[in-house]
Amino acid sequence: MSETTETIFSKIIRREIPADIIYEDDLALAFRDINSQAPVHILVIPKKPIPRLADAESGDDALLGHLLLTAKRVAEQAGLANGYRVVINTGSDGGQTVYHLHLHILGGRQMAWPPG
Ligand code: AMP
Repeated sequence: MSETTETIFSKIIRREIPADIIYEDDLALAFRDINSQAPVHILVIPKKPIPRLADAESGDDALLGHLLLTAKRVAEQAGLANGYRVVINTGSDGGQTVYHLHLHILGGRQMAWPPG
């Protein structure tokens, strides 16, 4: 498992590679996932490069709350009035591939449970 804090998402934050950015503030960024798994698939990330949810610390509590509220606002802006799913994949068993904490917002279709 890689725990490097420098990922492709850091490059997106710094505008070194292109992304379809739909929201930004001092703490967070939201952009469309390049490999959509639903009609709407948006990633919300902190600008602070926390690798995994498992690496978040007690001092990050306000930031983590901000990310959830950002997910809510971005989902509303995307028109997901019928609902949506928010997913955080954490570590290798969690299926995480990019080691910069991110919330997936998935919507625009009926979600199944349990996830694979
Ligand atoms: P995870 O597997 O939870 O770590 O999710 C990583 C997500 O990042 C995947 O859904 C990828 O499709 C997405 N992703 C990887 N590179 C990019 C990129 N350059 N722009 C947008 N999304 C990306």
